[in-house]
Amino acid sequence: MSSNFPLSNSQLSNLVKDFPTPFYLYDEKAIRENMRRFTKAFSIFPVFCEHFAVKACPNPYILKILAEEGCGTDCSSLPELILSDIAGIQGNKVIFTSNETPASEYKYAFEHGNIINLDDFTHIEFLKKSLGELPETICFRYNPGAEKQGCNSIIGKPEEAKYGLTREQMIEAYRICKAEGVKHFGLHTMVASNELNPNFFVDTAKLVFELCAEVLEKTGVRIEFVDLGGGLGIPYKPEQKAVDYDEVARGIRAEYDRVVVPAGLDPLEIHWECGRPITGPYGWLISTAIHKKHIYREYIGLDSCMADLMRPGMYGAYHEVTVSGKENEPKTEVYDVVGSLCENCDKFAVQRPLPKIEIGDLVIIHDAGAHGRAMGFNYNGKLRCGEVLMRQDGSFKEIRRRETVEDLFATLDLDGVEKFN
Ligand SMILES: *Cc1c(COP(=O)(O)O)cnc(C)c1O
Repeated sequence: MSSNFPLSNSQLSNLVKDFPTPFYLYDEKAIRENMRRFTKAFSIFPVFCEHFAVKACPNPYILKILAEEGCGTDCSSLPELILSDIAGIQGNKVIFTSNETPASEYKYAFEHGNIINLDDFTHIEFLKKSLGELPETICFRYNPGAEKQGCNSIIGKPEEAKYGLTREQMIEAYRICKAEGVKHFGLHTMVASNELNPNFFVDTAKLVFELCAEVLEKTGVRIEFVDLGGGLGIPYKPEQKAVDYDEVARGIRAEYDRVVVPAGLDPLEIHWECGRPITGPYGWLISTAIHKKHIYREYIGLDSCMADLMRPGMYGAYHEVTVSGKENEPKTEVYDVVGSLCENCDKFAVQRPLPKIEIGDLVIIHDAGAHGRAMGFNYNGKLRCGEVLMRQDGSFKEIRRRETVEDLFATLDLDGVEKFN
């Protein structure tokens, strides 16, 4: 939402003298305050842990800030595991929720004491072969199939999703692992993406709690933690409302009291692996308007493009756009705000009412702190922008520099091509 941008026009104009646009700006104070609200809401459970989904904002400075607020990480690849380690997040603070995983990556996670969350029944055997033994702790990802209704279009229907085990496979998986000597068990599910309805998560928790009770009854395995995945949404559109963490926590607590406690599963640890709500609203893509074009429509050309922020082009996702210093001016114009990629979908906003924009204006794209810079790419020879962190004392630190042509060519053998004929 537009209202939380922390800098006035004069502050931002000063900042771009040191850090030329385009770049991402993150607000440390706002990230910490939000994380504290999230943690406080879930403090009504005996044990709670948020494992920040590294893929949402894979910068070790951000991970370190979140670690100080008590977070672990959720990783899905070897580089994400290594990044967590660099940020000082280690052992069972790291959950490895991957799929189609190579043996070498399981090995790294095992050797570093990370929690391995298996995505398929056959991966028990695969893991045993890869490691020579099974780890002491194993988690399984549950796909509820048609049992879970009302999933939105980003993640799709569970029965069409590639992730996780069926209910029957879950029961059998715990039975086998218990017989193999595995000592500690978790249960994971993730069936939402950018979901704003608190009841959706309460309903998911209920489903998961009931399965934990069934597993105990049928196999004698006492699941010690559930991981409710990510998928808590953020209000990208001005008319949308943020998810009330307390409402979600209280709703889940009611199901906990109704299902978990009578089943003899208390204390059951509650874990999340949210990305979007943790950093999303506290990061912005800052660009400069460098061109104005008038054809059948009015266009504003920015110095950033879809390679810096892919969501609008890829999903048609809405991101709020404001013009620094013109926040309160009337929206007298209708623009397509576009980037420089040779793809017509490279539009940050389509037919958007905005105040009159002049060349040189600083244009702010909101809610870009998660799945923003992280989803960037190099197609069309585009160099991805850097990242700047606004510290709690109001100072600024560049936490990732802008890419250079040398970075882009680093994987090419340029000496070889000279001699090549
Ligand atoms: C993407 C992802 C997340 C984070 O999702 P958000 O929507 O950013 O909260 C968590 N867990 C897994 C397994 C994911 O793939």
